[in-house]
Amino acid sequence: MKFIFVTGGVVSSLGKGLTAAALGTLLENRGLKVALQKFDPYLNVDPGTMNPYQHGEVYVLDDGAETDLDLGHYERFTSTKLTRMNNLTSGQVYQTVLNNEREGKYLGKTVQVIPHVTDEIKNRIHLLAEKTKADVIITEIGGTTGDIEGLPFVEAIREFALEVSFRNAIFIHVTYVPYIKAAGELKTKPTQQSVAKLREIGITPHVLVCRCEKPLDKELRQKISMFCNVPVEAVIEEKDVDHSIYEVPLMLQRERMDDLVCRLLDLHTPAPNMAHWQEIIRKLIAPQHRVRVGVVGKYIGLQDAYKSVYEAIIHGGVANDCGVEIVQVDAEEIEKDGPEKQLHGLGGILVPGGFGERGVEGKIKAAQYAREQKVPYLGLCLGMQIATIEFARNVLKLPRAHSTEFDLNTPNPVIAMLDEQKRVTKKGGTMRLGAQSCQLVLGTKAAELYGSFVINERHRHRYEFNNAYREKFEKAGFVFSGNSPDGKLVEVIELKDHPFFVASQYHPEFLSKPHQPHPLFKGFIAAAHQNIHHKPL
Ligand code: GLN
Repeated sequence: MKFIFVTGGVVSSLGKGLTAAALGTLLENRGLKVALQKFDPYLNVDPGTMNPYQHGEVYVLDDGAETDLDLGHYERFTSTKLTRMNNLTSGQVYQTVLNNEREGKYLGKTVQVIPHVTDEIKNRIHLLAEKTKADVIITEIGGTTGDIEGLPFVEAIREFALEVSFRNAIFIHVTYVPYIKAAGELKTKPTQQSVAKLREIGITPHVLVCRCEKPLDKELRQKISMFCNVPVEAVIEEKDVDHSIYEVPLMLQRERMDDLVCRLLDLHTPAPNMAHWQEIIRKLIAPQHRVRVGVVGKYIGLQDAYKSVYEAIIHGGVANDCGVEIVQVDAEEIEKDGPEKQLHGLGGILVPGGFGERGVEGKIKAAQYAREQKVPYLGLCLGMQIATIEFARNVLKLPRAHSTEFDLNTPNPVIAMLDEQKRVTKKGGTMRLGAQSCQLVLGTKAAELYGSFVINERHRHRYEFNNAYREKFEKAGFVFSGNSPDGKLVEVIELKDHPFFVASQYHPEFLSKPHQPHPLFKGFIAAAHQNIHHKPL
């Protein structure tokens, strides 16, 4: 078994996760079984309780783990199914170590960062290796080299590599080579210093992935090679992508990074066949059609808050050979100006998940606009609850209908708290989380799109459709097209007499991949493209 450790230097947001995932794509296409894992040095037990401004999207796995959004890249770029084993935070490490201490497991010893914390970290790599039996384990260390809180992780991977022998473990350092406009030059000093920082701790990277705006010329590669003590072919250029993040695997392949990694790890496999991936890129760069869809949210401008949603929309585009322009619509702007100004001319409208009251009324107006103007609508989690509230208010004429999340005293709680949630007081990992099965109803749009009656989708919510209103809704043409197997929880709704109005209580965006676009997104983009009122660019 082989191990690859990915660290990052100079600045954060370099796309380490993307690089790790893209390497995963290449190795998988060489016929290797790959597992990916992320270590996050912060003290939160998981990111589930963090604000999207701090952390971006919380990515949910089948087993209900609330994880870092890099795990979304791992699942989208490879065929691996991840579990809570694949994301480890300092919070979890310390929680385990402190519990062990209270249980007397350290037999009276002084409990220390080295070896107790580092052992716990190493243990997680071994556990994943045992569980997945992968040929290659890629472990990404969050944060930037030199961060105090990241040190135990870096120390742990250093020890780990020593223990499994250097032939079985390599270090890849993702670094930044800034372009200084005034000088008209790319600068290598930050990279040199970042590598020096790693060497201080005892790690010499085998490969440097250099993130840059401009191409690295031969001279620069040689300079980096010499100062950072890596062979020149191990200086990998990773330029900003022109069109899509899905170009990264092909970029790394052009740089022969997968060849190099296999050579370093003594892995003998044929070159990867990336034809299908090239076809995806072709559709992204030169699609046959174009469409514009709006995403109505409250974290507009924060690129990472709806990461998986944006990606799944793009996959829906790939499925239809359709380039998608995503228009980010601020729900609060709709509250001020009405829906027409922002939504007119869009091929489709999507309302994603969310928590808290801000922007809710704007989202309700957007759903009303989509329903009345027959604009394709896709609602995800809160987006389904919003569609329900809108229908109650404007079709069933219950003007104060609401979710009890936003109005505890509403006379018509059409969305209310799940029974299992009522006694929960702790935050973190306490929602309805993870993959659960859902049965679709024959003859519905949802069943047609999925081409099946039993599906499994990931959840993250506390509230649900209130069954006391079921009949009233049904009589007015609201269709419950998917339910939990016991029939108690509404999972998918849709409208008759509408070209496409579908909303799910679950989060389909977590299961979409560029090479396996999710059926709901595929259907949504197809409908948006066929919308005759849509004004393309
Ligand atoms: N806030 C809603 C709930 O908890 C929706 C959650 C979501 O969109 N993820 O039920």
